[in-house]
Amino acid sequence: MKKYNFNAGPCVLPREAIASAIEAIQDFDNTGIGILEISHRTPGWERVMKETADLWRELLNIPDNYKVLFLTGGASTQFFEVAANLLNKKAAYMQTGVWAKKAIKEAKFYGEVEVIASSEDKNYSYIPKNYTIPADVDYLHITTNNTIYGTEMHEDIDSPVTLVADMSSDIMSCPVDISKYGLIYGGAQKNVGPAGVSFVIVREDILGKIDRKLPAMVDYRSHISEDSMYNTPPVFSIFVMHETLKWVKNMGGVGVMHKLNKEKAAILYDVIDQSKMFVGTAAKEDRSLMNVCFVMADEHKDKEAAFLEFAKERGMVGIKGHRLVGGFRASIYNACPREAVEALAQCIRDFEDEIN
Ligand SMILES: *Cc1c(COP(=O)(O)O)cnc(C)c1O
Repeated sequence: MKKYNFNAGPCVLPREAIASAIEAIQDFDNTGIGILEISHRTPGWERVMKETADLWRELLNIPDNYKVLFLTGGASTQFFEVAANLLNKKAAYMQTGVWAKKAIKEAKFYGEVEVIASSEDKNYSYIPKNYTIPADVDYLHITTNNTIYGTEMHEDIDSPVTLVADMSSDIMSCPVDISKYGLIYGGAQKNVGPAGVSFVIVREDILGKIDRKLPAMVDYRSHISEDSMYNTPPVFSIFVMHETLKWVKNMGGVGVMHKLNKEKAAILYDVIDQSKMFVGTAAKEDRSLMNVCFVMADEHKDKEAAFLEFAKERGMVGIKGHRLVGGFRASIYNACPREAVEALAQCIRDFEDEIN
């Protein structure tokens, strides 16, 4: 049976990237040696590293005074690495979900944290709009897409202080005005590759302003000076990221991705809004284009397991909601084809027809 992959991450990748990965495992760059077995000092590899960074620059229009880094340890390592490098006294955080909450917890190892806005009161189902950014903080940290709750900030905000963003789950899904940010980070495994590599885009002048000394692996400057090869990089993950970004470029870039993503999300949200059985959990204006979260209306709650089984029989994979929200979540990142979204929409309609 054909499977439709809606996993939240790791998740579906472009078929083209998978095909190149299979080929490279056999023989990387006509060297006669597979990608899992080459040295990261192979010239062909150094070219892939450079091309990957160049693809990032081109696709997101990254200005010259920013560096693009490929690191390990996932977004969760960036939760403390950001604070270690940037937090002298006090930082401001927006608490829009559990990932933001974890980032706050880690930052507290390095200094004072002021939570300037939180949507915890309504189980993070919206993005706070009324908040003041204090002038006396080292940076403001936001999470642009809240993967678990299906909320997303749809505009780049203006911040008087250095803006830091966890963009793990919406990077490359839409254009970003990089110049508004001091630092952007995320794990690759939602939209730009497999697990095992994370990305950091950092404006160089914000670094080196803290009083503490840092271990080399924690100091962004060590990674900058060695072009992300201070230690052995996650070669295979970066290779698949390279192929994924090539695919984004061939598709027409992030502007085209954004258009396709809006269309895909609309297909699902329309079905949910027309349904009497299912309801969306996120505030409409803050609905994520990447993670569509929905539950059963109160009077139908007893049918959740039946719907999951119904969907499974139609090849739907990964649509069970996160335990903190319940219900269902369809993650429809860049590489999720429109066909999969249409199949899920049909599945929702069919289930409702069958029950009624
Ligand atoms: C998945 C996710 C994380 C955690 O990423 P890891 O790479 O597993 O550490 C952090 N933030 C957001 C927004 C995420 O979606």
